[in-house]
Amino acid sequence: MLKDKLKIIQENIRISAEKSNRDFSEIRLIAVSKTNPIRKIVECFDVGIIDFGENKAVEFRDKSEIIKEKVIWHFVGHLQRNKIKYVIKNADYIHSVESFKLAEEINKRAKQIDKVQNILFEVNTSNEDSKFGLKNYDELYELTTMCEPLQNINPVGLMTMASFTQDEKELRKSFKTLRTMRDEICNRYSSIKELSMGMTNDYTIAIEEGATMVRIGTALFGTRDVTLSWSEK
Ligand SMILES: *Cc1c(COP(=O)(O)O)cnc(C)c1O
Repeated sequence: MLKDKLKIIQENIRISAEKSNRDFSEIRLIAVSKTNPIRKIVECFDVGIIDFGENKAVEFRDKSEIIKEKVIWHFVGHLQRNKIKYVIKNADYIHSVESFKLAEEINKRAKQIDKVQNILFEVNTSNEDSKFGLKNYDELYELTTMCEPLQNINPVGLMTMASFTQDEKELRKSFKTLRTMRDEICNRYSSIKELSMGMTNDYTIAIEEGATMVRIGTALFGTRDVTLSWSEK
């Protein structure tokens, strides 16, 4: 069943890539396994998924300590400075950097363990108050400039969450905003290439607009059951 779901998603990714004249291999599927138990993650790994995303720091730490498979770990949720300690050891990518204070602290923690941490800057492209992230290009420009001296972070891209809507125009607008910002900032910092955008609701559109990382939970794992914690399932 998981295999079938994965097949459908991969087929959708392929079609969207083709539509926009892109190579299928440019797009990385991140399985957002939050709230799901270890066995489900291992099940996914066994059918060929290697990238996994979590959005809660302690859950991230616990799962990434238990799982011994060679997984690439993405931290995709909002991160508070006092919780960096839970993710710094095992996160291959942190997608949600939105302030200098956070970047500075990640840099400090990474340095302590002699690591260079890949990060993405989160942008609020939908202008919803409930969403985190930088508000515009000027803020991104300023933050990247301030991060220049930080030797233990490596900015690799931008991330956004679009509105939860079926309005295709609005979704495209969000994704186009992120892409335009990436194209612009890339002229100054060529390492900032990745576009982490697209979830179950909108990943095909995100790919048409240039996504290089799609973060998919529900389409792979089904609706999240939040009545039990992941370790009780
Ligand atoms: C939960 C989550 C996702 C996945 O959402 P689905 O709609 O279940 O695919 C993607 N990105 C972030 C940041 C999330 O928190």
